[in-house]
Amino acid sequence: MAVDEGELRRAERIVREAERVVVLTGAGISAESGIPTFRGPEGLWRQYRPEELATPEAFARDPRLVWEWYDWRRQRIAACHPNAAHLALARSMLRRGGIHILTQNVDALHSRAAVQAAGEGDASAAMPLKLHGSIFRARCVECDKRTPLYDDIDTQSVERLPRCQECGGLLRPDVVWFGESLDRAILERAFQLAGEADVCVIIGTSGLVQPTASLPGVTQSGGGRIIEINPEPTPLTAMADLSLRSGAASAAPRLFGGPKLSGPLR
Ligand code: NAD
Ligand code: ZN
Repeated sequence: MAVDEGELRRAERIVREAERVVVLTGAGISAESGIPTFRGPEGLWRQYRPEELATPEAFARDPRLVWEWYDWRRQRIAACHPNAAHLALARSMLRRGGIHILTQNVDALHSRAAVQAAGEGDASAAMPLKLHGSIFRARCVECDKRTPLYDDIDTQSVERLPRCQECGGLLRPDVVWFGESLDRAILERAFQLAGEADVCVIIGTSGLVQPTASLPGVTQSGGGRIIEINPEPTPLTAMADLSLRSGAASAAPRLFGGPKLSGPLR
C-alpha cells in the first residue's frame, strides 16, 4: 500500500502548522495492535454479529452471553499493546499543546500509550476523550454507579456475574451500545473541539456511526481541513482534503512526529 510521498508531506505540514488539531479515531487504529474491527473479517464471535450482542436488548435477554463476549474481547485486548500510531499521537500531545483525540474505541490503547509515552511524567495531557466508554469499566444497571473493572469475569451463570458494591444491581460494560445515546457532556465537548479545530485527522473509522461521523463536517464548516487515514475508502472520503490510503501505524507517525528511536516499540 504505497502512499504518495507528496501527499504525506502535505498532510504532515498541515498538522504541523495547525494550532488546533482533533484526531477522530475508530477501530482501525487498533487493527495493527491485533484487535479486530467490527466490520472486518475477524469481527464475528461464534456465529454472532456485534450488532446482535452490543445492544441493551441483548443484555436484558441474556446478560451472561453478552458478558461472555465482553470477557473474550477484554482478554484479547489486554494481551495487545499500543502500536506506533497510538504512541506517536501520545508523544505529540505531550510535546505540543492543541491536539485532542476523540476516540470511538473502548480498548484503552490511547490511554495506555499516554502512560507509556509519559514514563514517570504526567500522562493526562495525552488522554483521549472517550466517546463510547471503556471496556475496562462497568456500570450498574440499577443505580448507574461506574467502577473500573480489570478482573476476569466469571460467566458460568447469571448469579456469578459482577454486581454493584453499592446496591447489588447487575453490572454491565460501561460502553455505548448500538441504539444508545452518547453521554451529553462528552458529546458537547467533542463538537466544541471539532468546531475549533484547524484540522480533523480521521484515523480508522468507517464513518457509519452517528453522531460521531458528523464531527469532521463540523471542523470543515468552521473552515478547518480534513485528512483521512484509512486503507479503504469510506463515506467520509469524499469530504476529505487529503486521503491517505494507508494503515495507521505507518502513516500516523509521519503526521505526528514519528516514534522516538530510543526504546523498543511494543
Ligand atoms: P469499523 O469496524 O466500523 O471500521 C474500521 C475502519 O478501520 C474501516 O474503515 C477500515 O477500513 C479501517 N481500517 C482497517 N485497518 C486499518 C488500519 N490498519 N489503519 C487504519 N484504518 C484501518 O470501526 P468504527 O468506525 O470504529 O465503528 C465501530 C464501533 O465499534 C465503534 O463505535 C467502536 O466503539 C466499536 N469497536 C471498538 C473497537 C476497539 O475499541 N478497538 C473494536 C471494534 C469495534
Ligand atoms: Zn448499583
